[in-house]
Amino acid sequence: MERYYLWTIGCQMNDADAARISAGLSEMRLHPTSEIREADLVVLITCVVRQSAEDKVLGRLASLKGLKRERPGLRIAVMGCFVDPQAALPARFPYVDAFFKPSDIGGLLQFVRERTGHKEGLQSTAVCAVNDATGPAVCAYVPISYGCDHHCTYCIVRLRRGGQQSRPPADIVAEAEGLVRSGVREITLLGQNVDAYGLDLGTTDLADLLAALHGLEGLWRLRFLTSHPGEMSAKLIRTVARLPKICPHFELPVQAGDDDTLRRMGRTYTVERYRQLVAAIREQVPGCSIATDVIVGFPGESEAQFQGTYDLLAELRLDSVHIAKYSPRPGTPSARLPDDVPAVEKERRRALLEKLQAGIVTEIHSALLGRTVEILVEERQRGRWKGRTVTNKLVFFEDEADRRGQLVRVRITRAGPWSLRGERIE
Ligand code: SAM
Repeated sequence: MERYYLWTIGCQMNDADAARISAGLSEMRLHPTSEIREADLVVLITCVVRQSAEDKVLGRLASLKGLKRERPGLRIAVMGCFVDPQAALPARFPYVDAFFKPSDIGGLLQFVRERTGHKEGLQSTAVCAVNDATGPAVCAYVPISYGCDHHCTYCIVRLRRGGQQSRPPADIVAEAEGLVRSGVREITLLGQNVDAYGLDLGTTDLADLLAALHGLEGLWRLRFLTSHPGEMSAKLIRTVARLPKICPHFELPVQAGDDDTLRRMGRTYTVERYRQLVAAIREQVPGCSIATDVIVGFPGESEAQFQGTYDLLAELRLDSVHIAKYSPRPGTPSARLPDDVPAVEKERRRALLEKLQAGIVTEIHSALLGRTVEILVEERQRGRWKGRTVTNKLVFFEDEADRRGQLVRVRITRAGPWSLRGERIE
């Protein structure tokens, strides 16, 4: 085995898994290729959070069948939320060599090790330097917990990833130290519900973990996602306000702006609690940004209930909204309810929210025109440097010099709904 092709879809946890797998495979001296026909090993990291994601996974799998027939020596490994131990996948996809549960990086690397005879390959997943083709990574994801203890009625993630398991703080700090030594300047802590970090350990919480990581010399920025409005604590908000390396950005999915819908979704808060939380965050962390997720067309969602979501977003004017059309997921409680909002109506609701939010964000971004922001430069993309502000705004600028990994001041010259453009100032 010499070359591997890695395909990822879905959440940041899958991106984090992909980075670890790449690090492990390069320790075994396998090289990445973007040309699937050149690969000796294909790894798919999958997502089934919505039917559209599952369809992409099925499309990818179908395309591999012919390739395997042509080259029986090709090894194919599938990991992630598509892997349902109850689903008899080996019988459905006999050309796949192995299936691994979400984040079972150790299992996947062991599978490769047995076929290559290599002894190396991320013996411990505690430390991994993440590099891409152009140099050492500037930003890295660090999972702090796996699984989730919530029972959102629409969500398949708990069924595939299980209940919450927090990693011990010492492991997380050791991994972060290793990343910083390899040149990483910004770390994003990941979990399905980071606010619940440590509840299963009983000795620590997210605020304590952030404070411990804050002391790392050479680390410039810390982020965390995703939060749960039912569990975000006053201590966490105070910690973000107090510690300068923690980026003032919150990923706080509301899902719906109607109490009855929230209750039926199994969300454990009310619209009023969400409103109060946003107010408390904005009061204590002035200038912060807040992103949210919304689902439209949940079973039984009436026009008036949808209007509640529309009005809430119009009122709160959040920095970013990820809008999803409800997709019934097998095995979840809501999949037993009739999926009674027609597809065209779901699309109408999605488009209405998208239009509302594009207007709000364009106004928020336009207020930055002529202002100077500081960004951490991550990479070059289509001839421009790309970085983010502490508030997670994407900024592009042109510069002949290599700015990767630098903190750069940029005066904003153009503002659109998705990103900003500017010029570097000394
Ligand atoms: N921790 C997050 C939360 O608080 O819900 C879960 C992240 S989930 C993997 C990402 C987003 O996908 C959710 O916030 C939700 O908006 C969306 N989502 C999850 N299940 C869905 C479904 N069955 N249909 C449509 N969107 C869904």
